[in-house]
Amino acid sequence: MSLEDLPPLRDVLAEHGILANKGFGQHFLLDLNITRKIARLAGPLDDCVTIEVGPGPGGLTRALLEAGGRVIAVEKDPRFLPLLADLAAAAPGRLTVIQADALKVDERALADAVQPGAPVRIVANLPYNVGTPLLIKWLTGPLRPESLSLMFQKEVAQRIVAEVDTDAYGRLGVISQAVAETEIIMDLPARAFTPPPKVASAVVRLTPKTERPSDTDLQSLEAITREAFGQRRKMLKSSLKLLGGEALCEAAGINPEARAETVDVAGFLRLARARL
Ligand code: SAM
Repeated sequence: MSLEDLPPLRDVLAEHGILANKGFGQHFLLDLNITRKIARLAGPLDDCVTIEVGPGPGGLTRALLEAGGRVIAVEKDPRFLPLLADLAAAAPGRLTVIQADALKVDERALADAVQPGAPVRIVANLPYNVGTPLLIKWLTGPLRPESLSLMFQKEVAQRIVAEVDTDAYGRLGVISQAVAETEIIMDLPARAFTPPPKVASAVVRLTPKTERPSDTDLQSLEAITREAFGQRRKMLKSSLKLLGGEALCEAAGINPEARAETVDVAGFLRLARARL
């Protein structure tokens, strides 16, 4: 059977008697028009290995395979393995399914096993409970993806792209934007998912910059933003007291009486480097 001949996703779920498990953050995209649009907006996929986390019944996986290239799908819930095996058979040699917890896998090693040194793109409708730790792992770890196109709860998506001096601006935005260009490329209402979650969602595309801060700069940035936004209403000289306080701010050219949300990403990078 080819990809075009696969039965509708609703029928596949019914045939296997699979109901969504909320504990695994399962909200499925069963409309292939939507998954194809996500794959299209994720950029050219035929020149790279695409890693998808949480393929579930495989709606997005189908669209990624239609877009071309090789796909590695990492799924924790073993109930989906037979469905994904059918999908792999419909796209011979192009889909590798790994049953694992995505927080624990080494994506670089997985991609290299499929195609050594291959450029990697990540595309995923993420389980909400692990979306943020996965994003930080991919942005700051050894994978070095070309791009990441990721579905989040809308409120999390807004925090990733937030501008300085807004309520949504915080640690997640600073770390994401220190490493990557960020953009919301699609909004989706809750009713687009089966079952619908409580809140709306959005897809964020992150394109890592060619010059990434060093690993030590990033570690320092994580520590500084944890303290600064942990007490975001306080002046930096007091919230950053344990990391150097007023002297640190002055060394970085930042007003010690400023509050975290008024310091832009470049300012936080200066603070991170001044602390080293
Ligand atoms: N991609 C599918 C879609 O769009 O219809 C399913 C998306 S659903 C929001 C999240 C998926 O991630 C589920 O299939 C769930 O089993 C899987 N999942 C949850 N936690 C995971 C983890 N730690 N590692 C890998 N997969 C996980």
